[in-house]
Amino acid sequence: MNGGKIDFLRVRRRFRRPLLTGRGPVEAVDRLLLRAETAEGVGYGEVAPWPGFPTETIEQAVEVIRSAQGNLGRLRAVAEAAGEALPCLRAALSSCAHWTEIAGFTGHLACAGLAERATSAAVGAKVTEGFATVKVKLDAAIRPDDVRGILTSVPAVRLRLDANGGLDLAAARTWTDFARAEPRVDFLEQPLPVGHPGYASLGADQVALDESFLTPAGVDWAGPVVVKPSLVGDWDAFRAWRAARLGSVVYSSAFETAIGRQAALWLAAQDPAAGTVGFDTLGRFERDGRDRHAGGPLVRGLLDLNWNDFWKELA
Ligand SMILES: [Mg+2]
Repeated sequence: MNGGKIDFLRVRRRFRRPLLTGRGPVEAVDRLLLRAETAEGVGYGEVAPWPGFPTETIEQAVEVIRSAQGNLGRLRAVAEAAGEALPCLRAALSSCAHWTEIAGFTGHLACAGLAERATSAAVGAKVTEGFATVKVKLDAAIRPDDVRGILTSVPAVRLRLDANGGLDLAAARTWTDFARAEPRVDFLEQPLPVGHPGYASLGADQVALDESFLTPAGVDWAGPVVVKPSLVGDWDAFRAWRAARLGSVVYSSAFETAIGRQAALWLAAQDPAAGTVGFDTLGRFERDGRDRHAGGPLVRGLLDLNWNDFWKELA
């Protein structure tokens, strides 16, 4: 298939305050916004790699897109041939291909809040905003007693604990036991570095993989996995894998613009067992006009955005 045109825009988005990730503080991220035009219509997608995840870089994606010289069919062929090597680009092309459904998505999903710090005050502030589930980041200074204190002083809140791969095996065991014993903790996310052999001894039931999970290829984990739709590769392949998987899947944002967010929410909503998603990521960038959704404990598809106008404003 040779039909179709592809355009792209590269945008840089600066965080209002550096965002703490498993890779350390991040001040800005670059994204590629794609516009695909075929005889069937126009579609949009977003290449949104995330620091600490072993995908292609923005530069690599730009190089591949440039090499297609505006020819969508050629770009699709190159991306498909690259297989697992270009997961962000393949996700963005999936978004372009499914855009009619994505643009029409106006459903909603329950969303977990992202606490600024692992303190009762920060978690309580999220509960005041209406979030029933709140994610907190663990670092070496935080002890199980601190989290017990949060659970006591913020009644009824459910917690997700994210270690971003920063624990040693002894601490990972302590936190896994804690998550198992505490019914109001959903799971402990990425306690150990990617590929650490200690995962086998922790057991999968309360331990979720995040940084370890990219595309479904080669994943052997019975427990929950955190899926960032923007990083997951081809979406049709992902959905086939998801339909056959028993373990739970938690959908999560990679800090996309409105294009990537609309598409990622749509993908999450295709999963009847999607549960509570992790999209409390709005309001973190300097105002650049590229966020259009509303945040909060229910995240929704956009009802009335003219995507063509949005693209023109970006360009
Ligand atoms: Mg995480």
